[in-house]
Amino acid sequence: MSSSGQPQRPQPREGLLDIPLYVPGKAEIDGAAPIHKLSSNESPFGASSMAMDAFRQMTGNLELYPDGGSVVLREVIGEVHGLHPDRILCGAGSDEVLSLLCYTFLERGDEAIYSQYGFAVYPIAIQAAGGVPVVAKEQDLTTDVDAILAAVTDKTKMVFLANPNNPTGTYIPVSEVRRLHAGLPKHVVLVLDAAYSEYVAENDYEAGIELAATTENVVMSRTFSKVYGLAALRLGWCYGPQAIIDAMNRIRPPFNISGAAQAAGVAALRDQDFIRKAVVHNREWLPKTSAALEALGLKVTPSVGNFILIHFPDAPGKSAAEADAFLQTKGCVLRQVGGYGLPNALRMTIGTAEACEAVIGHLAEFLKG
Ligand SMILES: *Cc1c(COP(=O)(O)O)cnc(C)c1O
Repeated sequence: MSSSGQPQRPQPREGLLDIPLYVPGKAEIDGAAPIHKLSSNESPFGASSMAMDAFRQMTGNLELYPDGGSVVLREVIGEVHGLHPDRILCGAGSDEVLSLLCYTFLERGDEAIYSQYGFAVYPIAIQAAGGVPVVAKEQDLTTDVDAILAAVTDKTKMVFLANPNNPTGTYIPVSEVRRLHAGLPKHVVLVLDAAYSEYVAENDYEAGIELAATTENVVMSRTFSKVYGLAALRLGWCYGPQAIIDAMNRIRPPFNISGAAQAAGVAALRDQDFIRKAVVHNREWLPKTSAALEALGLKVTPSVGNFILIHFPDAPGKSAAEADAFLQTKGCVLRQVGGYGLPNALRMTIGTAEACEAVIGHLAEFLKG
């Protein structure tokens, strides 16, 4: 402290330095690109060639500001999903959408609930906005609606639900999502993060459009980072009540979506055949890979996403960390999930057939050795 009582250097806001750094999926092995990167749930199919062409066409006009309202992109999202564009907001990845929601609704000390193995971005976004993250226990690595409802207090302002969840791959049926919504006070915002919804085939699943369309406190978020294969461009969106979208738009950075991302997003939406191919591939290789790993004696959490959570035995030499190290010597990178409280599991993205077969083969060798 100086004589004026002020600190000698700038001080980040109270509590900010307590926020853990987000650890992304590993992208390199000893400084080189892995043969099979299965650590971030990226699409093994890359992006649609139409999206790539649209991206390239932007190179002639890099001096121009993009459309700040992402008008065409919102219109095309609206066409594809049957939604009114006025009720859509685009973000630099759904990460930005989640942050904007927190900054819109949380005052210092307000509580926001998420589930035990919920997506790691939630507590970061909540704390960045001054909120207090509250964890609701899960049952069998699956969201427990009763636990969330039991965690609601007078201070609760938001609930985050990834459905399906990352890193577990589990989901809850729409009846449970409705029960959750019905049990929440009307002033609490329910965020339905449907980042993997395109992959889900279950009849009792819904991404959340109907609830977001018909209530005043439900927002559904979506991303172009997964099945659309556009993670590098940072593009996501949400759909919700007009009053919520209007409020968010007041603090949204005015040009938050680059022109290239808008153009590529529009083209990608118009190439739904490309998306279907990725989904069909996942429907084949998700169960195939899960069954093959179970046949090796590993436990795999049933997943409806484009990734699986693999649990390793407690036996010495067979831990998740050791499996990870072994796989890396073979050029395969999966995701460690110790940060999620799952120290003896690895999350594996469903990659190409070749990638899945490679991991299955290497893990067979690892478990034998
Ligand atoms: C990958 C993922 C997202 C997408 O994040 P972006 O910022 O759009 O790349 C959102 N939610 C969950 C649960 C995810 O796993």
